[in-house]
Amino acid sequence: KELSAALEESERLRTRYEEMSVIDPLTKLYNRRYFFSEVTAGLARAKRYSHSYSLMLMDLDFFKQVNDCFGHECGDKVLKDVSEILSRFTREGDTLARYGGEEFVMALPETDSEGSFILAERIRKTVAEKEWYCGDDEIKMTISIGLASLAEPDDDNQDANIQIADMLREADRALYYAKQNGRNNVKTFAEIPR
Ligand code: GH3
Ligand code: MG
Ligand code: MG
Repeated sequence: KELSAALEESERLRTRYEEMSVIDPLTKLYNRRYFFSEVTAGLARAKRYSHSYSLMLMDLDFFKQVNDCFGHECGDKVLKDVSEILSRFTREGDTLARYGGEEFVMALPETDSEGSFILAERIRKTVAEKEWYCGDDEIKMTISIGLASLAEPDDDNQDANIQIADMLREADRALYYAKQNGRNNVKTFAEIPR
């Protein structure tokens, strides 16, 4: 009886640790490590069948000020609420994860540049319109978004070797460009002047 109780307990812990290693405890979104393992196969599939695929990298604007002015707990609440908003915008097959502190990433299979831009704009507007309260203080938040998409199939196959890390670099460049452009906006890698 003792043995079976011990086995049961160890099984319970195993499940718990498994969950802990893929889920971010604060936001309940997937963590970054899980994100990489999850999306690699999806991108490979999209390339093989010349399907569209987009990545969306999001970063809250001036988030540090929320912690500094209203406290860390209030910052945590904003992160949870933003995660909940982002979850509402996912559809089956999408992978949403907390990429870093106040950075989020969404992988969008079967979604081209145009589609990902429309989605990103909806997310940006929803965050900008929401009002948070910390005690009596109202807080407004905005989010900047960078997008990267596989090239269209008729763009002579230039994406044959692209990996998820390359697309993330592109999305990160676009995000940086969005920040440079005054924040609270969406930019795509393709539109960065070079
Ligand atoms: P920018 O518009 O350039 O992105 O400015 P920012 O202030 O958002 O950027 P910065 O990278 O300077 O600040 C990010 C802040 O996010 C700093 C860090 O304290 C906070 N942060 C990261 N993780 C957490 C968390 O789990 N909870 C809380 N409350 N804050 C966090
Ligand atoms: Mg950041
Ligand atoms: Mg930020």
